[in-house]
Amino acid sequence: MILITNNGKRDDGRAYDEIRPLKIEAGVLERADGSAYLEVGGNKVLVAVYGPRESYIRRLLKPNTGVIRCRYNMAPFSVDDRKRPGPDRRSTEISKITAEALRPSLMLEGFPRSMVDVFIEIIEAEGGTRCAGITAASVALADAGIPMKDLVVGCAAGKVNDEIVLDLSEKEDKEGQADVPIAMMPRTEEITLLQSDGDLSEEEFGKALDLAMEGCRQVNKVQIEALKTRYAQDAGSDS
Ligand code: UDP
Repeated sequence: MILITNNGKRDDGRAYDEIRPLKIEAGVLERADGSAYLEVGGNKVLVAVYGPRESYIRRLLKPNTGVIRCRYNMAPFSVDDRKRPGPDRRSTEISKITAEALRPSLMLEGFPRSMVDVFIEIIEAEGGTRCAGITAASVALADAGIPMKDLVVGCAAGKVNDEIVLDLSEKEDKEGQADVPIAMMPRTEEITLLQSDGDLSEEEFGKALDLAMEGCRQVNKVQIEALKTRYAQDAGSDS
């Protein structure tokens, strides 16, 4: 049993609508144009952003706008069973949906024929790494000073023991019935990623979506605090 029914708490003591402990730091790498480090539950994620810059991959460039490219990578030591190094179907899919989730937030029209590269490294994984990667990548893009309409936040809800719960742990993801990861721009509530894995009724899906959106609003506050702390440091070093 994952949900302890008599007091409504989950396996790790969380309420149904509670996210795991979350920490975000912006500007953690010297050599990247922008960077962020994020921990949520047992996930540890590092993101480096380079650009907008010229790229040798000319076929990807566009004459009237800059383009974003993402690489999601799991370290071999990030999971219990060693992960074979290098790209696979899963990481290729997550790289693609991450770029699609972030792209609507960026204002790259002022950077024709240039590329923004986002490298997402999962150092430790414990469920929900695609959402954690998107959340951290958006902070790193802001840290790089790339013009954007809003931050993008990732968060998942899902179904465990017939209950709709927020921010699934790895155990809940594996033993649960469904997982709905989303990404959202909180200001307009525009959804930029919506995936669904498992069986949900229409009502349950609606509940999961509402809960995941609420999770995004909570995570967004931590993103903003991370950027405020970063800019306060910058302002301090300028004076
Ligand atoms: N996972 C793993 N080995 C892998 C891929 C994933 O142990 O090769 C674990 C990891 O903890 C991950 C979780 O399974 O967070 C759920 O993976 P999923 O594909 O659902 O993506 P995520 O929830 O991380 O976005």
